[in-house]
Amino acid sequence: MFPREIVADRQAGTIDVTWDDGHRSLYTAEHLRWSCPCATCAGEWGRPGLLEGVEQLPPDEFRLADVRSVGTYAIAPQWASGHQTGIYSFEYLRSLCECEECGSAS
Ligand SMILES: [Zn+2]
Ligand SMILES: [Zn+2]
Repeated sequence: MFPREIVADRQAGTIDVTWDDGHRSLYTAEHLRWSCPCATCAGEWGRPGLLEGVEQLPPDEFRLADVRSVGTYAIAPQWASGHQTGIYSFEYLRSLCECEECGSAS
């Protein structure tokens, strides 16, 4: 599963991914931020993560500053808050797709 194209629109706060199978996923920054897989946000070794106990985050946390690619297998969004430890593998990213097709498949 590889993205053919990744377009991060900082203004709109969205990441638009076209996959090599032709599928297209549009992610909102907010959805991605809440899905951050890093140890701080998601927890590790049985410890709950930061995101489990909160319902709100400061607006800075949802503002995309940049999106880096990590090797050939993942992207790492950089947030205006400075948070950037979340590494979203392409597989994980694809599983976050919220389109009708993916939503109804699960
Ligand atoms: Zn995180
Ligand atoms: Zn989809």
